[in-house]
Amino acid sequence: MPNETTDHAAMTRAAEHALAWLDGLENRPVATTATLDEMRRRLGRPLTDRGVEAVQVIDDLVADVAGGILGSQSGRFFAWVIGGGVPSAMAADWLTTVWDQNAGIHACGPAASVVEEVTAGWLKDLFGLPTEASVGFVTGTQMAHSTCLAAARHAVLRDRGWDVERQGLVGSPAIRILANAERHGSVDRAVRLMGLGSDNIVPLATDDGGCVSPDALGAALRASSQPTIVVLQAGELNRAGFDPFEALAPMARAAGAWTHVDGAFGLWARATATHRDLARGIEHCDSWTTDAHKYLNVPYDSGLAIIRDAAAHRAAMTLSTSYLPAGGAARDQIDWNPEFSRRARGFPIYAALRELGRDGVADLVDRTCRFAQALVAGIGALPGAKVVATSSLNQGLVRFLSPAPGASEADHDARTDEVIAAIDASGEAYFGGVTFGGRRCMRISVCNWRTTEADVARTVAAVAGVLRG
Ligand SMILES: *Cc1c(COP(=O)(O)O)cnc(C)c1O
Repeated sequence: MPNETTDHAAMTRAAEHALAWLDGLENRPVATTATLDEMRRRLGRPLTDRGVEAVQVIDDLVADVAGGILGSQSGRFFAWVIGGGVPSAMAADWLTTVWDQNAGIHACGPAASVVEEVTAGWLKDLFGLPTEASVGFVTGTQMAHSTCLAAARHAVLRDRGWDVERQGLVGSPAIRILANAERHGSVDRAVRLMGLGSDNIVPLATDDGGCVSPDALGAALRASSQPTIVVLQAGELNRAGFDPFEALAPMARAAGAWTHVDGAFGLWARATATHRDLARGIEHCDSWTTDAHKYLNVPYDSGLAIIRDAAAHRAAMTLSTSYLPAGGAARDQIDWNPEFSRRARGFPIYAALRELGRDGVADLVDRTCRFAQALVAGIGALPGAKVVATSSLNQGLVRFLSPAPGASEADHDARTDEVIAAIDASGEAYFGGVTFGGRRCMRISVCNWRTTEADVARTVAAVAGVLRG
């Protein structure tokens, strides 16, 4: 039975639980504490015939998940590349839920459509990307890659007189993908989803910084006259390498190739005066992906596909049926997105950008880079630790050495994993491991607006404690 009191009770209770959870970030362990069995046992209630009162459902949920929610919102969470949520973005995300717009077309949610239009303009300006580019607000970089590669596939085959939307890929000229050898796995999956086939990826050799050289790209471009998509990277995962776009993009353009960039977190360097030059020339590429749920600190799920050739983007995505009124002058998201029904993802991004402002976004990126570098240096200087990679952005790698006499690299690998596990188990900070150059390392990544100088000091002290044993 619809009931105003129930709405108020459930929403108010959720707000109380939410605030208690946020207030507890400082003192709760960053890692989860509940075991898999415990989670299954608590959440695995029978689905009853009679429903449960809304407030009770919320209270039970909060009690059942205790210890099973990872503290990735904490300022001392440095694993993967995750990011937290700035207050206005979390609040706008709640309103997005309550308004429950179907942001597939303008007619189903006019404000949701316009907010994406406005936010797209802000983002292109912030990143210094072409004003004529079109933007799809998708779930994350994974789907942004897929959207961009769909547009790229359209364009490189259109140039050979092939209409891939009508004719499909069977019998089409074969496309090859020249991609940075140290790319993120989501690129390969997008290649698979777009029917391009992972066997058609030609890896481009990288230098010590994880970057493709003009020589490597030049040789690969010359090797074939097939339709070509080049995939470059702004922000490699371990040392945040940036491909030299200024040199590479014009080479690809001259060869008739489409250049796509994975900028999941690195594209945000463009929003700062300090780090902007790392991505010099990136505006000469053809499509760019990034995440709002990482560096902008917007709740999941929030990725962006930005495409210079708006006509190719639209041709790859558009859909019209008689029961959907076309937007006319208005923007229908269905023309730019792979989804049909969809969440109104623009609201939280709009809110975060307004809350932070240009200066706030730049400061967020700049200070997390300083903190990442301080963590790498601080932890790397501890007895038994060693710096493996630093970067001028927000990533870095350290390794822990076994004190055993005559210890081998394999012993150091084991020691590294052991130290990471011990730090995580301490609840004081949270890191992940990675195999880099054949050796186990601890990855340090900072992109949460909550991280402070004090968090950095507390984390270095916690690692020192673990190393002392
Ligand atoms: C996180 C990440 C991705 C994947 O993005 P999702 O938002 O998780 O889909 C791709 N590339 C890089 C460099 C990333 O950091």
